[in-house]
Formats: sequence, C-alpha cells, structure tokens
Amino acid sequence: MAEVVLDQIDKVYPNGFHAVHELSLEVEDGEFLVLVGPSGCGKSTALRMIAGLEEITSGKLTIGGRIVNDVPPKDRDIAMVFQNYALYPHMTVFDNIGFALKLKKMPKDEIDTRVREAARILELEENLERKPGQLSGGQRQRVAMGRAIVRQPAAFLMDEPLSNLDAKLRVQMRAEIARIQRNLGVTTIYVTHDQTEAMTMGDRVAVLKDGVLQQIDAPQTMYDRPHNLFVAAFIGSPSMNLFESQLTGDDGNLTVDIGSQKVALDPASFERRPGLRGYAGQRVIVGIRPEDIDDLELDPTIPEDQRIRVEIELVEALGSEIMAHFTVDAPAAETGDPDAVEEVGSERETKCVAKLDPRSRVKLRDTVELGIHTARLHFFDQSTGAAIW
Ligand code: ATP
Repeated sequence: MAEVVLDQIDKVYPNGFHAVHELSLEVEDGEFLVLVGPSGCGKSTALRMIAGLEEITSGKLTIGGRIVNDVPPKDRDIAMVFQNYALYPHMTVFDNIGFALKLKKMPKDEIDTRVREAARILELEENLERKPGQLSGGQRQRVAMGRAIVRQPAAFLMDEPLSNLDAKLRVQMRAEIARIQRNLGVTTIYVTHDQTEAMTMGDRVAVLKDGVLQQIDAPQTMYDRPHNLFVAAFIGSPSMNLFESQLTGDDGNLTVDIGSQKVALDPASFERRPGLRGYAGQRVIVGIRPEDIDDLELDPTIPEDQRIRVEIELVEALGSEIMAHFTVDAPAAETGDPDAVEEVGSERETKCVAKLDPRSRVKLRDTVELGIHTARLHFFDQSTGAAIW
C-alpha cells in the first residue's frame, strides 16, 4: 500500500506568504496524479512538502498509511526527479544510477542487478559506462529516472522533469515516462505547468490556482465538465472561447447572445444542465470549445438558428486542422488565468478561435457563417465563475 494522502495541508512561508491552502488529495496506490497550474500556483511547494523538503504548516500527510509530517525526506520511501536532473558529471551512468544504493551500503551484486534492470527498462544499457556530458538531453533525463527507479520507492515525485528538453523530445519522453510508470505501478505525483502534459500523462489531474485546489478528475472529465471558469480556460488547447452573454427565453426555449447575434440553444443543452433554466433572463459566461464550431459548408445540418456570421481575421492551416480566428463583440470573461490575458481583445470584444476540418475553405477576411454545436456549450455564473449544471 503506497497511497499518498494530503489532508488539509497548508503552507505559510516564514515571510507570511500563504502558498498552499487546505490541500486535500488522495493519490491511490499505483496512480499517476498530475498537479498542474500556472507559475506560482503552489504546485512545487506542495510536492516539496510531500518530499519533506519543505515543512508542512498544518494538516496531515500520509504515505502508505503512515503519517510522515515529521519524518525526514530520506525515511519517507519516496524518490524525487527534478527538472535539472542533478546528475554527478564525473560519475558514469552506472554510478549515477546506483549512487543512492551505494550510500545505503547495498551489496555490490544487488546494486549491479538493480542498475542493469533499470537501464534495461530505460534503454540505457549501451550507455552505462558514459558520463552525463556524453549523453543527449533525453538520455540524461532517463538516467535521472533510473536513479529513482533503482530505489524501488513507494512513490515517485517529479517536478517538471521534462522542462529542459526540446519540444519533440518532450513529447517522446512524456509517453515514455507514462509507460514506465504504468509498467512499474509506482504511485507517482508529477508537477507541471503544461496542461497538455497533464492531460496526456495523468490518470487524474489536479488543477491548482493561488494555492487552492480547483478540481481533481480524470483528464477527459476535466475537459468535458470543468467546474469553473479557471479550469475551463486552463485545460484545452487552444483555450475555450469565453465571453459574457445574456440568456433569454423560458422553459423550452432558450437563446444565448454571442455578441450582437442570437443563437438558439439545442434542448439537449438545458436537459443536460437543469440549473441553466434558473438563469433565463440573466447575464452568464458562455464557453465554446474551438472544436464545437463548424464550417457550414462542411456540415450544413446545423440548424439556421444555431449559426453566427463572422469575419475571419486569421487562418492557421496546421495540416490536420485549420484554426480560424474571429472576433465576437462581447466582453471577454475574466478567467483568473494570468497567461490568458493576451487572448483578450478590447473591453467589448473577445478574440475567438474555431478548430475546423482541414477541408474547410475559409479564407482571411471572408465573412462566413459558422455553426455552433449548442448542445456542447458551457455556462458559468458571472459572479462566482462556477459552472452551471
Ligand atoms: P513555478 O511553476 O513557477 O515553479 P509553482 O506553482 O511551482 O510555480 P511554487 O514554487 O510552489 O509555485 O511557489 C508558490 C508561491 O510561493 C509563489 O508565489 C512563490 O513566490 C512563493 N514562494 C515559494 N518559495 C517561497 C519561500 N521560500 N518564501 C516565500 N514565498 C515563497
């Protein structure tokens, strides 16, 4: 049993800064949990408290059923992988991987077995006699993983382990780490600011903002049912289009403003969200995922009252899809994500993006009709930012 349980963990730094607020998480035995959030949200602080590198101000931390608040890092049975790898440059790969075991005075043949097994898993067998300086970035990253693996810990803690790699290698290593973790079945807590990394690697993802847990869910659930505006804006690339709107109508018949245009809601949208009816006549925040907007030429079945007319301001043809950018004359939603600021247009307009099929023939400066899959719209309370369900 190696679940890691955080029970109302708080961190107040000596200067009075409250970095983590009552964080409660239950990471199951063998689970891969990703802690994600923008810079400064407290994710490293949380991980460092689990590792024992930072004191816990209040709350209870259990690893494998044992309360470890006051247990020193080396006795917590965890292995940490950092972004800078922390390899010893003068030692061979073999010695780097086996270093912690040597410190523990483990017999030589046992060290040899464990290091070779880790090297096999990580495909480093050819490189055991090399020094870190003779390795590629990806290989160095694997050596760092090897040092964690040989210790056979109860849990791996990883802090942005891929951030020093170039984009292509990062994608490759992300799949590799996820594969290794699944093969080993070791409970893993992985910190990143990159939502794609979080979504592709984690069994579950925990989103933090300003030291407060916003949502913890399986990646697809998080994407389909974000609990609030912050999560909605943070998860997904390109981001969800979010703007202020007015909801009008009554029970069987609701329409929503997309800027100065009105769009009828498919009955499925309020059947799925019974709470929406209570907002009729009120201002709400509407969210549209870029893939829920379609080129009518390719999908003419979208009803006439579920379309908008827009001028295309930028077309990015990415091969597998086309990103078509346009502006909606409605105020952008305040999402609380500092990185989202540049997405916002002027006070009364919102930059939006549609992810279209690559066969779409939309062109720059065309005025086109786009269809909105209104059953898949998201709605948020304007004052609290909470999702309306
Ligand atoms: P990043 O991705 O930039 O590393 P993070 O989400 O990991 O960000 P933390 O490093 O956990 O964030 O920091 C959370 C907050 O706590 C930040 O505002 C940071 O400035 C603050 N902080 C971190 N260490 C200390 C410290 N020793 N004393 C005071 N404040 C600190």
